[in-house]
Amino acid sequence: MFRQTKALLPKLRSLRLHGQQSAWRLKSTSAERALQYRAGQKIHGFTVREVAPVPDLFLTAVKLTHDRTGAQYLHAARDDSNNLFSVLLRTTPMDSTGVPHILEHTVLCGSEKYPCRDPFFKMLNRSLSTFMNAFTASDYTMYPFSTQNGKDFQNLLSVYLDAVFFPCLREQDFCQEGWRLENEEPTDPSSPLVFKGVVFNEMKGVFSDNERVYAQHLQNKLYPDHTYSVVSGGEPLVIPDLTWEQLKQFHATHYHPSNARFFTYGDLPLEQHLQQIEEEALSRFQRIEPNTEVPPQPHWSSPREDHVTCSPDALAPDPARQNSLCVSYLLGDITDTFEGFTVSLLSELMISGPNSPFYKALIEPKIGSDFSSVVGYDGSTKEASFSIGLQGMAEEDTERVKQIISQTMDHIIQNGFEEERIEALLHKIEIQMKHQSTNFGLSLASYIASAWNHDGDPVQLLQISGSVAKFKQALVDNPRFLQDKVKHYFKENTHRLTLSMSPDEAYLEKQAKAEEEKLQRKIQALSDSDRKEIHEKGLELLAAQSETQDVSCLPALKMSDIEPKINPTTVQMGSAGGVPVQFCEQPTNGLVYFRAMCSLNTLPEDLRLYVPLFCSVITRMGSGDLDYRQQAQQMELRTGGMSVSPQVVPDSTQLDMYEQGVLLFSSCLERNVPHMFQLWSDIFNSPRFEDEERLRVLVMRAAQELANGISYSGHMYAMTRAGRHLTPAGDLQETFGGMEQVKFMKRIAETSDLTQVIRTLPRIKKHLLNPDNMRCAVNTTPQKLSDTATQLESFIQDVAGNRKQRKPVRANILERPLDPLDESGPSRKLICEQNFQPCQMKTFFQMPFPVNFVSEIIRTVPFTHEDYASLSVLARMMTAKYLHGEIREKGGAYGGGARMGGGGLFTFYSYRDPNSVQTLSAFRKGVDWAKSGPFTQQDIDEAKLSIFSAVDAPVAPADKGSGRFLSGTTDEMKQSHRERLFAVSHQNLVDVAERYLSPGQRTCGVSILGPENETIKKDPSWIVK
Ligand SMILES: [Zn+2]
Repeated sequence: MFRQTKALLPKLRSLRLHGQQSAWRLKSTSAERALQYRAGQKIHGFTVREVAPVPDLFLTAVKLTHDRTGAQYLHAARDDSNNLFSVLLRTTPMDSTGVPHILEHTVLCGSEKYPCRDPFFKMLNRSLSTFMNAFTASDYTMYPFSTQNGKDFQNLLSVYLDAVFFPCLREQDFCQEGWRLENEEPTDPSSPLVFKGVVFNEMKGVFSDNERVYAQHLQNKLYPDHTYSVVSGGEPLVIPDLTWEQLKQFHATHYHPSNARFFTYGDLPLEQHLQQIEEEALSRFQRIEPNTEVPPQPHWSSPREDHVTCSPDALAPDPARQNSLCVSYLLGDITDTFEGFTVSLLSELMISGPNSPFYKALIEPKIGSDFSSVVGYDGSTKEASFSIGLQGMAEEDTERVKQIISQTMDHIIQNGFEEERIEALLHKIEIQMKHQSTNFGLSLASYIASAWNHDGDPVQLLQISGSVAKFKQALVDNPRFLQDKVKHYFKENTHRLTLSMSPDEAYLEKQAKAEEEKLQRKIQALSDSDRKEIHEKGLELLAAQSETQDVSCLPALKMSDIEPKINPTTVQMGSAGGVPVQFCEQPTNGLVYFRAMCSLNTLPEDLRLYVPLFCSVITRMGSGDLDYRQQAQQMELRTGGMSVSPQVVPDSTQLDMYEQGVLLFSSCLERNVPHMFQLWSDIFNSPRFEDEERLRVLVMRAAQELANGISYSGHMYAMTRAGRHLTPAGDLQETFGGMEQVKFMKRIAETSDLTQVIRTLPRIKKHLLNPDNMRCAVNTTPQKLSDTATQLESFIQDVAGNRKQRKPVRANILERPLDPLDESGPSRKLICEQNFQPCQMKTFFQMPFPVNFVSEIIRTVPFTHEDYASLSVLARMMTAKYLHGEIREKGGAYGGGARMGGGGLFTFYSYRDPNSVQTLSAFRKGVDWAKSGPFTQQDIDEAKLSIFSAVDAPVAPADKGSGRFLSGTTDEMKQSHRERLFAVSHQNLVDVAERYLSPGQRTCGVSILGPENETIKKDPSWIVK
């Protein structure tokens, strides 16, 4: 995987913290135990350097160094069973061949102790990991995993250490993962030679996203003098310049303990980790001087301007406005913790929400469709940067935008920020510190990665409340503290770059031509014997990929390591003003979480397409006495966010039944519960829809966001479309979140007159925000429960005026009790379309991408059906044992596989795939493979393990009971499913493959998003869009 890490605050946002200060002693036995380490203490070849309690985060940080190699180590001891390990190497390439990225892939292809092919992917099925991945950033490569099981931790640690420090790095791995010349059809020596390789295709996919193209150029040009001037992930046309020798050399110099930072997190004992790391890896190394430091970027004496091009976007909300323009400023070194903290807060104040100066100055005049996605503080490079500017703007507005940016900076320097906005920002940090997530260790690892990578102090970074206190004090000491920063970093900063981007009609053509020329140059240099060798190597690779693997060298958990029983979640049913309420007592750490599901059953059918738009604007247009700015301010001051989203919930017992609605969600600190409900009351009673200007801004942004998302989430769109004609729920999903919705939003964004939309929104509101069609759920601490219930009661009274008995649009409504033990109690109202006729449909969306997203879906059985578990296991096993090999290894796609979905749809998919029809035939061969049953009991157990690691993934207190609330899935149903999973046998798998997936037995839908396709064009069975 290749990623560009963004700003500090988004990372802070995902940092969800745990524990109450007063409960610190009781809860944090792991953290307390770790306090007993002493600086200077020697443990398994390491020396303890620092032991620091971090009460804000309920952990103890222990910093160590490895004596012989100088490897750095940080342990965060905390009472959290979701333990995490990560090792980070500083990788600072000086060319765009993608060497760190290809290396990241290749080390996972086999190592000294685990020489089988692809141990990384194989371990996904032999472990109960809650996370396994690897990332290449601009200046580091990171390998993290997490698991709740101690034995599993040791197994994975062993595989990770061996992969990183002792990989095989075979030539074949390099060719498969990096790049190679190969006959298009490997078995046919007369077929043309083409470039292949996983990273080669992955990066072509990455740069099919214009926002990524822009972000990459911006970084390269703002830091032109060292490693940030190249593409660490690989520039597709430069990747073929990399040799296998260079790859091995890069490993030898960068993947060394002297250049490594280890991080562990959780409740497992530190000594054990240290001992294993020392014994299995570090003891075999001597210290080296890695020389991987990034020097400071020399400052420019005057600002610079530059221009780049991209491909035109067929889905742009306004085709005449497709330019981007940003001004980027080089900031200070990220190892200065407090300065980084300050500037990231400053950035939020400048750009975030409708009350920020840049939102007012750039977004509201509707010069562009939205901020550029690079906008904000970016602390992922040694010296941070801040960018401000727009996407979706017209070329002739270039000078105007530059002027506005400069004037807005002046305006901020003069006027500063309102005190209430600073207060709202600090409130946000307080909520983020209290809110608990399930991947806390991973959030910490990525939060500290960049600064630590450049020798910043990771412990200081964790002392967030220290930084908050210092920030408050700085504001007291100097009321112009923030204004002075703006003056220093922006107004007077000569190291700034103005970068514009415009579409070029011939962009894709030029790229294809450049690739063709590169290819021809390589081919012309070949002798006859080279060609022969290429053909032979192609066959060898194919043979290796097809070979059955002996993976017995890899450690594995056993079925007996899995808990036979689920962990039950207790909920209580109650009511407030006649509205059913589910209460769930949880250690929420002083936060209250509120959900409400509002049925769509009475909404006229022609309004359904508008529901997602309604959801995205209903909390953003103002309500009651508050205009949209004041409303946004109150939400930031009083809540952790308020959102509304469309929901399609397939029934767990019948394929042609589903529930449709919108889900309201919000959270707040205990003291703000009345305020939170007041905000909801205003939205129910007097939402403001009439401001057309405001609506237009929101519509443009929503349309832009959808259009940008396709090149990243193309597989989701392909799947949603493929499922459209298979079940009634699938049809509605396409309406709410498929290509149909994308095109609808584009149409709305292009409409010059929004009055019709403005007339529609209140009509939708009447049907949706109606207490008669509503049920609620509250998660909070036992102490706060009854108070919250009282507040909820008065909220329902407040909105009682919206009650209205309405007739459902469809006659076929079926009621299901919310509490299965209380048949006469309140119910969910489901739509049942008994006469639904699934049909076969093949849809192709031609897109300006160089890669495809392919999906084929088969209608099977619902969740409670006895065959559901077998189909789930089969999907996992086909992915691991067959489809991965065909689609990724041989086909060169970034990913692909099969999965069983809750709506009874068995789904095949591929991601960023150079092939299309060939992948469809791989899906079909996968079914033949399954029917012939060439798998062992070990294979079946592995598939089950990987399912259980998902089924048993930790659930945050905010989300406990939410599955039951939304879909009515009870603990008893989950337990039966669990028992069926354990029982799935070899015979079951062959049976279900035959019965449901065989041609003739099945009804399936197919969809592809991809570039122009001659084969499909000629085939009349396809609908081409
Ligand atoms: Zn990758």
